[in-house]
Amino acid sequence: MQYEDWHTHNALCRHAVGSVEDYIKKAIEFNVDLIGISDHFPYEYLSSEIPSLGDIPYEEYAMPLYDLESYILQLENLREKYIDQIHVKFAFEIDYFKHQDYVLNKYLKKYIDKLDYILGSVHVLFGKAGTFAFDDGRFLNKYKEYSGNDEIYLEFYDSLQNMIKSPTFELDIVTHFDLPKKFDKKVNDKDKIMGKAIETLKLIKKHDLTVEINTSGLRKKVKEQYPSIDIIKSIYDLDIPILLGSDAHKPEEVAYEFKSMTKILKNIGFNQLAHFKKRKRSNVEI
Ligand SMILES: [Zn+2]
Ligand SMILES: [Zn+2]
Repeated sequence: MQYEDWHTHNALCRHAVGSVEDYIKKAIEFNVDLIGISDHFPYEYLSSEIPSLGDIPYEEYAMPLYDLESYILQLENLREKYIDQIHVKFAFEIDYFKHQDYVLNKYLKKYIDKLDYILGSVHVLFGKAGTFAFDDGRFLNKYKEYSGNDEIYLEFYDSLQNMIKSPTFELDIVTHFDLPKKFDKKVNDKDKIMGKAIETLKLIKKHDLTVEINTSGLRKKVKEQYPSIDIIKSIYDLDIPILLGSDAHKPEEVAYEFKSMTKILKNIGFNQLAHFKKRKRSNVEI
């Protein structure tokens, strides 16, 4: 069985190690059939628009704007260089910020026709505790400003829903669907949060989007893929397409635990995964 890894990073985003080529070489070594290079789209275009973004170290979260051009050029060269050994797909992981689509699209439009897909993500909340990246361990003290973890989950899903509903935010795949659990933050009212998650999945279905099964959670404190098995079962029941992403931030994390994850997905009932080319979805058998 050959695997497709749709979510990888590299040193351009300043918090991953290894060059794009290092990830491609590792994928070839691991006999992976396809690697999607999906580094974090720059944040600094936002800085003048959201004053409070000054509080978050965005220069450590994404590649700088001045690297965009060379990122795409590099991808084009590497795709050619390794064309006989692996499929290389072009992508960005883009963070959703409310009311920022217009400025985002000013920068994105130059590259969008080159992309095979876009990962849509929420890492930053603009809620009760101000602006902070809830998945950055340096901001765990912010959790104390909430009256329990449920509030964080609800803010997260609200933001995810705004992203999905936005007519101007470009995306194909919704990433790490229950990311607030990263530091093993348990929910209190399970039914309520599951209800919110299902409401969000129904929106994903309505907008014909794909959900990523992200194995990076297995490397985090929670020790579980994103999303949980219960949510994956709901995804199956709602007949929403899925695909696999390792969210590798080190070359050796490419296709992390894909063998065991595929087995779990097959047991749930999935027999195909989504595949993207120039933002058109098709399916591959598993
Ligand atoms: Zn990252
Ligand atoms: Zn990522």
